[in-house]
Amino acid sequence: MSKKKLNILFVASEVFPYAKTGGLADVAGVLPKALKELGHNIIVVMPRYYQIDKSKLTHVDGALGVPMGPMGELWAGVFTTKLPQSEVSVYFIDYEHFYGRRSLYDENGTPYEDNDNRFIFLSKASLQLCKMLDFKPDIIHANDWHTASLPLLSKTRFAEDFSNAGTVLTIHNLEHQGNFYKGGMDVMEIGWHHFNPMEFESHDRLNLLKGGIAHADAVTTVSKRYAQEIQTSEFGFGMEHHIRAHASKLFGILNGVDYDEWSPAVDKHIAEHFDIGNMNGKLECKRALQKHFGLELRDDVPLIGFVGRFATQKGIGLIAGIISGLMQQDLQIVMLGTGEKWAEHYFGEISGRHSDKFALHVGYSDALAHQIEAGCDMFLMPSLFEPCGLNQIYSLRYGTLPIVRATGGLDDTIENFDEAHNSGNGFKFYAPTHDALYHTVMWAVGVYKNNQKAFLSMQKRAMKNHFSWRDAALAYEDVYKYALAKHTK
Ligand code: ADP
Repeated sequence: MSKKKLNILFVASEVFPYAKTGGLADVAGVLPKALKELGHNIIVVMPRYYQIDKSKLTHVDGALGVPMGPMGELWAGVFTTKLPQSEVSVYFIDYEHFYGRRSLYDENGTPYEDNDNRFIFLSKASLQLCKMLDFKPDIIHANDWHTASLPLLSKTRFAEDFSNAGTVLTIHNLEHQGNFYKGGMDVMEIGWHHFNPMEFESHDRLNLLKGGIAHADAVTTVSKRYAQEIQTSEFGFGMEHHIRAHASKLFGILNGVDYDEWSPAVDKHIAEHFDIGNMNGKLECKRALQKHFGLELRDDVPLIGFVGRFATQKGIGLIAGIISGLMQQDLQIVMLGTGEKWAEHYFGEISGRHSDKFALHVGYSDALAHQIEAGCDMFLMPSLFEPCGLNQIYSLRYGTLPIVRATGGLDDTIENFDEAHNSGNGFKFYAPTHDALYHTVMWAVGVYKNNQKAFLSMQKRAMKNHFSWRDAALAYEDVYKYALAKHTK
C-alpha cells in the first residue's frame, strides 16, 4: 500500500534565505524541501518583511481578508516564490503596517509593542490563504510562539475549514514564549474561556506558546536531550509543569544540515575548497581569516571561532570571564555576533588591547560565518542551554572541532574526545563555570599543539558525521501520523 501523501501548511516567522535571525530560519528553509522529497505537498508561509525585495517575488492575485477581532478585518497582499532549488512554494503575507519595519522582532533591543498582533495576524492570514488557494491541509505545522495560536485557531475560529487538520507545534527555543498583555485574546477570537492557567494564561498575561502546547496534537522540539531538559526547572523557564503535563505528546527530533550550504567542498564563501581527502584548502582558509581580521599570520597557532547571538543563553558570560586569561596563552580567537551591548563593548575592548590575537566583528554576516567555520581549528559554543544548536554541527563538517557544554543538542551531537580510544568529535564540559570552560579550551589547545595526529584523526571523524534532513523529515512524518491519528480519534 502506498503511503498517504499529506498536505502540509508550514508557518514560520523567519525562513532562510529570505529572513533570518537564528536557527529557526535554517530549519524552515530546508525541512519543507525534505518533506517535499518524501512526496508530501507542502506550502510555507511567512511575513513579507520590508527587507524582502518584492520585485523578486510573484504577486498573487486577490487580497486576503484577515479578521482581527477589535481591529476588524485587515486586508493583506500575497507574494510567492519557490524555495531555492525546489518546487516548494513560499507565500509571503504583505501588510506594511505590521511588517514594513527595519527589523523582524525588535529595534535596539526593544521588542515591537504589537508583536502579539503581528504574529496572530500571520497565523490567521496563513489559514485564510489556504482557503484562497483551496489548499486543504491535513497537517498544520506551527513554529515557536509566533504561530502557536494556530492549533486552537484551526479548531475554533477557523473550525469550519480546518477542524480535520492535525496540528504540530515545534519549539525551537523555550526561552521565548510570546508573553503579552491579555488583550490579545480578543484579537485571536477564540473565547475567553481559554484564558486560564492550563491554556493561554500565565500570571494574568497572555502566553501564546503555553496555549499552543496545550492545544497542538503533537509538540516537538529540536533534540531529544532538550525534550527531556525542558521538563525540569533548570531549563523549563517556568513552563516545566505545563510541559510535563503534555509530555506524552512531546517528541525530540534533531535538526539536520543543509550540506549544499554548509560544506567545505562546495561553500561559495570560503577562500579555498577542501574535504577529507585534501585538507590543504583548510590552511588557506585559516590564513585568509587571519588576514581578514588582521591577526598575526601563523599556521601553527590554534585559532578558535565563535558565531552566534550575544545572549546569555550562548554562554557569552562564561567567555567574557576567561578571555583575559586566554589572552595570556598562545592562541587566537575570532568572534562574530551581535546582541547584548555589554558584550559588544567588552569584547570590543579586548580586541583593542590584543589585536594580534583577538578579533571581533559586531554584526550579522552570513559570509563571515562560513569563513569562520572553515578557517578555525576549533569552534567555541559554551551555551548554558541549547535546544539543538546548528553551528557546532556545521563546524564538524569543516573539521573545526567544537568545544561545547554538554547540554541539549550540543550533548546529543558532540562526543567527547577520548585519547585512550582515539574516539570523539569534540571537547565537552559539564559545569557552567569559568574554570570548566577555561580548562576545556586549554585541553583542546594542548591536543592541537602536542598531539597533532590525534587532532587530525578527530577532524576526519568529525567531517564524516552526517546529520541528514531526510532522517529528520522521516521522523516528522511519524509525528504527523501520530497527530492525525490522535486528532481523528
Ligand atoms: P539560535 O537559533 O539559538 O540563534 P543556532 O545555532 O540554532 O542558534 O542557529 C544560529 C544560526 O544563525 C546559524 O546558522 C548561525 O550561523 C547564524 N548566526 C548567528 N549569529 C550570526 C551572525 N552574527 N552572523 C551570521 N550568522 C549568524
